[in-house]
Amino acid sequence: MRKKIVAGNWKMNKTLEEARTLTAEVMGMVADEVKGNAITILCVPFPYLVPLKNQLGNSSVKIGAQNCSEHDSGAYTGEVSALMLKSIDIPYVILGHSERRLYFGEDAKLLAKKVDKALAASLTPIFCCGEPLEIREAGTHEKLVKQQIEEALFHLSAEALQKIVIAYEPVWAIGTGKTATSQQAQEMHAVIRKHLASKYGAGVAETISILYGGSVKADNAKELFACPDVDGGLVGGASLKSREFVDIVKTM
Ligand code: PEP
Repeated sequence: MRKKIVAGNWKMNKTLEEARTLTAEVMGMVADEVKGNAITILCVPFPYLVPLKNQLGNSSVKIGAQNCSEHDSGAYTGEVSALMLKSIDIPYVILGHSERRLYFGEDAKLLAKKVDKALAASLTPIFCCGEPLEIREAGTHEKLVKQQIEEALFHLSAEALQKIVIAYEPVWAIGTGKTATSQQAQEMHAVIRKHLASKYGAGVAETISILYGGSVKADNAKELFACPDVDGGLVGGASLKSREFVDIVKTM
């Protein structure tokens, strides 16, 4: 059975004190209110990984980073390697978020290297893909998303691919309050799964969790998560409010 996952992407938000408060609230509410086996992950800024990991202790809420370098070590000022994340026991890392593609020029070739480094360090990459508005309007969104997946992931063995979580995040829905309809989400998730099956076989494709991201809120999560190929969500803005985020987790 595929894993159900709700991951919060805090992006570059919160002071340490605010981060601790949000973590304590999420942890408390998840423990009290959430039943079932969905995995809850908080992807937090680098400086907070260690303090928040310690704060979470053996809570069911897990921690993740938002990026890692394509290099292991060396003269790359400001970068953080997958090996460093491994050395502090971080299990998850978001890779290829559209903001990194847009503002930091991350392309498929670079992302393929980052995916390799994350897997080599035993991290689980949450690999993001998704089309900008003009591509959706031109009707070439399926082609682009298939290409994003092919170029960054199709060099992997089936065994390695099964360690990846994919997040489909239409760029026009990120932080805009405009969510894909459940039909649009399901259609694209099915396209992604079929594409994975074309390369790795249906058996492998069926094991990959594909999350939807793009203005997920407590009031639209239920319909989105009910789609057969939507295995949870990657949540930005709504993950910064404990009540809203936990309500999304509860819909899983
Ligand atoms: C994201 O940044 O991954 C995201 C989905 O953001 P939001 O939920 O705010 O649209």
